[in-house]
Amino acid sequence: MNNSRLIPSVDHLLRTPILSKLEIEYGHALVVESVRSVLDEIRAHARFERVFPSDEAICKLAEQKLKNQTQPTLMSAINATGVILHTNLGRAPLSTAATNAMSEVSSGYSTLEFDLDKGLRGSRSMHASELLKKITGAEDAFVVNNNAAAVLLCLSALAKHRGVVISRSQLIEIGGGFRIPEVMKQSGAKLVEVGTTNRVNLADYEEALTNGTAMVMRAHSSNFKIVGFAEEPDLLEIIGLTHQHGSLFIDDLGSGALLDTSKFGLAREPMVQESIRLGADLVCFSGDKLLGGPQAGVIVGKATLIDKLKKHPLARAVRADKTCLAGLSATLIHYLKGEAEQKVPVWRMIAMPLEEIHIKAQRWQSVLGIGEVIESRSTIGGGSLPEETLPTYVLALHVSQPNNFLRILRKINPPIIARVQNDKILFDPRTISDMEDSMFLSRLKSVL
Ligand SMILES: *Cc1c(COP(=O)(O)O)cnc(C)c1O
Repeated sequence: MNNSRLIPSVDHLLRTPILSKLEIEYGHALVVESVRSVLDEIRAHARFERVFPSDEAICKLAEQKLKNQTQPTLMSAINATGVILHTNLGRAPLSTAATNAMSEVSSGYSTLEFDLDKGLRGSRSMHASELLKKITGAEDAFVVNNNAAAVLLCLSALAKHRGVVISRSQLIEIGGGFRIPEVMKQSGAKLVEVGTTNRVNLADYEEALTNGTAMVMRAHSSNFKIVGFAEEPDLLEIIGLTHQHGSLFIDDLGSGALLDTSKFGLAREPMVQESIRLGADLVCFSGDKLLGGPQAGVIVGKATLIDKLKKHPLARAVRADKTCLAGLSATLIHYLKGEAEQKVPVWRMIAMPLEEIHIKAQRWQSVLGIGEVIESRSTIGGGSLPEETLPTYVLALHVSQPNNFLRILRKINPPIIARVQNDKILFDPRTISDMEDSMFLSRLKSVL
């Protein structure tokens, strides 16, 4: 007997109430495709199986397929790891003002390149510049897609076919294949290495600076630390020497802190304002690391140089989009108003009092009725403040198969990303906002 005769037709199934409803939600073509694919699978197994799924079961399988297909792969997630700038989880979460600004300019038209005074074409590069100038003390600013693009643009526009002096201790890889020597090659600049892996002094720079030197570059060691027998000259001395030779000094700060991290018991991350004050000609940094804004590459510095960057053909290829400019501007306004510590989530998390974290972890424990509250460490992460941690309290769950439990947590919606230590699952309140709190607890409860 031919088993496949017992399998219902697509037309028959499409007339069932459940599929009629799915058709309204997902559209005819997609529903037909998923029913066909379920039926194909049943047919493929028909030779081995004696019992066939009911019409209803087939429809349910089709519904599952439709759900899977239309579920976005990029979705929000709950970060319970305590890593504040988690690159894999999208780095900096944004302030309410920033997300509102981004949604406003993207849901309708905007003044992206429109001058309201003149009623004529304006420039997108003006949007965040005034704020950046005011906050950093730089003459001018230019925003591009990310900091990798910022560095590439600076090198391409100002050092093509010419020497760029950099310390061997700074020939870094940031991750994702961003390596300083390769970016130099890409830009057409000539890499001139000075010093050794652990030590470089002013004489090394002096020796390397020749007439052909376009610039001296500093790349901040954002994600590693050289400890022990190490030496680097003062920034002020290097900049002075560079200028004596008529070359430019460009500072790739990476995270680009605008607030002093040492205030929070952390190592002192170099600050943008400081590099500008010490005379750096250009300073580059990310928008979504310690600045706490959207993905962006910010370049601040001398107006004549910024002008050259804006006119370079690459500028168009790496330009920032309107949502980025809106979100970055809204984030910068928090700094201007002196409220970044309260309003920018990254800083709020860094500044969060230990007692507040303790209370939150204890509340989780009492709501869930499980686990213990223990001391642990939160991490800054995301290519800033390597090795730097902050004391925290976490809710620790003892489960029999930690890795399996982590996998289950990743499969719920929204996924919860946690970490394991000594066979315990740890949940750090520092990186879970008050808005996410009840969602986090209800999802975790459902898993338990
Ligand atoms: C993170 C980082 C970059 C790359 O910045 P993106 O915004 O991720 O492109 C470049 N240089 C340094 C020193 C960094 O820390």
